[in-house]
Amino acid sequence: MPSDCIFCRIVAGEIPAAKLYEDESVLAFRDIHPAAPTHALVIPKAHIATFNDVSEGEAALLGRMVRAAAAVARQEGLGAGYRLVGNCGRSAGQEVLHIHLHLLGGRDFGWPPG
Ligand code: 5GP
Ligand code: ZN
Repeated sequence: MPSDCIFCRIVAGEIPAAKLYEDESVLAFRDIHPAAPTHALVIPKAHIATFNDVSEGEAALLGRMVRAAAAVARQEGLGAGYRLVGNCGRSAGQEVLHIHLHLLGGRDFGWPPG
């Protein structure tokens, strides 16, 4: 676990987070700067820097992240829909180098995104 990774530190309990879902491999918690009424981050507990770094053996983990996002969406009452966003790399706006899905809901969204 890279000790300078903020999401690894949240997994380790060193930084508090408002947890919404947790299992053996995935954690979801509220984004500290919400961009929608519901804004959660879904992360693997294992450190993976970017979506480019997901190995064959970690492929199922991405499916577990999507299922966790769907569970949180249900929990949050997002029956009208929600958006899952995964930023990869600087141009896409990835600031934290530990892969995460943004789960956004509770309002309407435009397309294409900015
Ligand atoms: P990115 O820009 O990398 O796709 O998204 C990183 C997200 O992590 C941002 O939406 C930011 O608000 C959120 N974030 C950064 N630091 C923390 C933190 O310490 N706690 C929580 N809950 N969210 C964080
Ligand atoms: Zn990490």
